[in-house]
Formats: sequence, C-alpha cells, structure tokens
Amino acid sequence: MSGRWTVGVDFGGTNTKIGLVAPSGRLGPSRVIRSSALRGPRAFVDAVSSAVDDLARSVGARPARLRGLAVGAPGPVDAARGIVHTCVNVPGWREVPLQRLFERRLGCRCRVDNDANVVTLGEWRLGAGRGARHLVCLTLGTGVGGGIICDGRLLRGAAGSAGEIGHMVVQAGGPRCGCGRRGCLEALVGTTAILALGRRALRQGAPRLRHIMEGRGGGRLAPRWIGQAARAGDRRAQAVWAEIGRRLGLGLANVVNILSPERIILAGGIANNWSSFGPAMRRTLRAEAMCTPGRAVRVVRAALGDEAGILGAAVLVWETGRGET
Ligand SMILES: [Zn+2]
Repeated sequence: MSGRWTVGVDFGGTNTKIGLVAPSGRLGPSRVIRSSALRGPRAFVDAVSSAVDDLARSVGARPARLRGLAVGAPGPVDAARGIVHTCVNVPGWREVPLQRLFERRLGCRCRVDNDANVVTLGEWRLGAGRGARHLVCLTLGTGVGGGIICDGRLLRGAAGSAGEIGHMVVQAGGPRCGCGRRGCLEALVGTTAILALGRRALRQGAPRLRHIMEGRGGGRLAPRWIGQAARAGDRRAQAVWAEIGRRLGLGLANVVNILSPERIILAGGIANNWSSFGPAMRRTLRAEAMCTPGRAVRVVRAALGDEAGILGAAVLVWETGRGET
C-alpha cells in the first residue's frame, strides 16, 4: 500500500511545506524548508526532491511508487503545461517548467497549480466545501487569492487564469493594488489595506490597540494586534474590521451575482478575525446580492488551516486521475 501516498508541496513566500498524504486525506510525515534557503528553481527541485526521498523512505516507499506530487505555487501558473510563469515575492522564477523538472527527478506523475486553486481543491474535497457542487474559496492575507468550483469542477477558463477574485475592481479609482491597477478587492481587504486603516485608527486615538501593539507587537502594527484590540473592546479597531467586512461583503455580492455559489469559504490568516468582520460582511452581502430564491449562499470559514496547501495539492493529483481538472 506504500505506493498510495501522494506528495503535497505548499510553496510559500516564507516556507515551503512538503507532506505525504494518505488516500483518506490524512496528513502523514511532513517537512518544512525556509523558502529563502532555496535560490532559484533548480535548488527548489533538488531540496524538495531530497525531502520527498526521505519522507518516502520513512514510510517504506520509493518515490517512483508514489501516486504523484503536486505543487501549489505563489503566482500565475499554466496548470495544463505545468509551467510557473512567475512567483510573487520569490526572485528567480520565470517560465519554469516545474512539472517536467519534478517528473524527471522523481519518476512519478507531477502537477503544478496556483496556490489559491490548490487551497480551493483541498477545502472542496477534504474541508469546509465537502459535498458542494458550486463553491468559491477566497484566501485572505497579504494577497487575496480565489478559486471557483463550478458544477463539480475547478473553473479554469480559456487562458487557465480564472478565479482571480482578488483582482476584481470594487472601487473605481481606489487604492493601488499589487497588480498595478486601482481599487481591486485585494487592495481593499488585503493586509496592506488593513494596516492603512489601523494606522488611521491609531492617529484618531485607539488606546487598547496602541497598548497591544507596543506590548505584544513590539511596536509593530499587524492585523493580529488590530484583531486582538477589537476583541478587547477598542472601538476604533472594531471600526477597522467593520470597514473590511463591508468591503468584503461588496466583493462577495458581486461573486454571488455572477456565479451563484452554494458556499463561499474564507481561508487565510485574516479569516481568523471572522468574529470582528463577519457581521458587517453578512449585512452588506445580504443588501447587495441579488436574491436567488431558495438558494441562499452560506459563507463559512475554511476548515483545513495550515494544512490546506499540502492537502489541496494531493487533491490536485487525485482529481487529475479522474480527469476532472
Ligand atoms: Zn489587483
């Protein structure tokens, strides 16, 4: 049975996580490598492959007998050909045929996809999206990624780039986005936007936020301190999250109007502030979405946490076997 293990690789800007996943979806042995230690694609393939060799040996399997390996990469990917176009915040990656490099090195089937698509697949099959045929998943963090399951399969579109919900413009002429445009959802609810609102709250006087930031935060503002201040009753910190909730609700209303999903899953670190932004998000979503009688959408939190990237990559291998993606 050792040949049934699948390898999931979660390639992040800070850490790269590699794990073996059992057919049941259970995470087996895993390893974390600092991404900054991997200079360029070749070093990446070498280090990840060595880790896969070790992990496979630890369960008595040979790499060529693994069911497959998939990588979720932090940037645009040509999933059909297994090519990483670029990586956000990781230098030295341009048009890298990552799928071919891994297949040559490991001798098992390999796949590559955008990290948000991978998280979406993981939540759909193993997490908060189980049983749904129509769902949308958003990853909320420094970037805002998106993935769409439409009629029981991952929506890729003509160019393979569908699902970039974070780059839907929701405020014409709004703040500048990392993609170079203005007013994208990412520029309105991503970490940069939350910090901008947090700094404004501090200027207006937010005593609990300032206290938490200067104590636990060592003087550095971060979304988690704004979250803690809000939960501790800081009105201005609460207003930050209410504004984020309104913006997010508006974005989700557009998504609902176009796709009519039965479920929307919110993943990523920012989703931990659910209790603070949730009420304003739901209010705005209810007010702005055109109703679909008898088909109310449910917005839920992701269930897989930090394991979503590894587990989702394994799902990508399994779905390929079924010819679904
Ligand atoms: Zn953008």
